[in-house]
Amino acid sequence: MTMLHRQKWARKFINAPGAILVASMAWIVAAQAADCPRKGTLGTSRILRVDAAATPRVGLKNFSQTLPLADHEVVLTFDDGPWPPTTPRVLAALAHECVHATFFLIGKPASEHPDLVRRIAAEGHTIGNHTWLHRSLMQIKPSETTDEIDHGIAAVEMALHGVATSTPSTPFFRFPGFETTPATLDLLQSRGIVVFGADLWASDWNPMTPKQELKRLIDRLKIARRGIILLHDPKAHTAAMLPAFLRYLRDNDYRVVHLVPAAPSAGFDGVP
Ligand SMILES: [Zn+2]
Repeated sequence: MTMLHRQKWARKFINAPGAILVASMAWIVAAQAADCPRKGTLGTSRILRVDAAATPRVGLKNFSQTLPLADHEVVLTFDDGPWPPTTPRVLAALAHECVHATFFLIGKPASEHPDLVRRIAAEGHTIGNHTWLHRSLMQIKPSETTDEIDHGIAAVEMALHGVATSTPSTPFFRFPGFETTPATLDLLQSRGIVVFGADLWASDWNPMTPKQELKRLIDRLKIARRGIILLHDPKAHTAAMLPAFLRYLRDNDYRVVHLVPAAPSAGFDGVP
């Protein structure tokens, strides 16, 4: 690097204090995640490869089948991000406890916040798809449903890899509001994309305090004892509740399972 280049490089960063702050925050979280597993943290207990051929649709709230989870095994899933005010708080809570989750991202915010999409992937989480605008696929014309699905996938792929393809790196999909139709289910199955429902949720789309949400989630988990848990990272009460919930999991011998595709494509950004 020449002196001139060094000066230009320095000026670029002096002119962008926000960029330095964001970069250093990302470094701190990355360093923390790199320390995993750490003694005393919850930790990810195992990786489960999910194959559309074996389990095309999962989640007992919606389908007759779910993932092969043992007693006290849970999968953490977050819908509707990325959302800059709250998604980083969720990421920090997950990194603090050394656990990995799956994020079902909406295409439009993904296209508006590609750095945050890349950060989710860089921190080892799995990224699934949740349409372009989160419209109900039962309420729009069949001719528009494929575009709503594909546009969402393309936005996430563009953020992750700079390529607007409708073939997802991670073939995981969740319908907005779980509003499926036979035609859309068939479409996704024909493309080898796993459709995710859920086994339990906190109903965090309703207004509630973090304390209320924590109690509701724990009460439901005590009954279910395992399963795919649905939460929403854009919800401030969920972001506030999450550290206490992860501590509850740790203190009560629950184990977090991290989902990855059965056959990762070249573009897959999750854990190896
Ligand atoms: Zn949603």
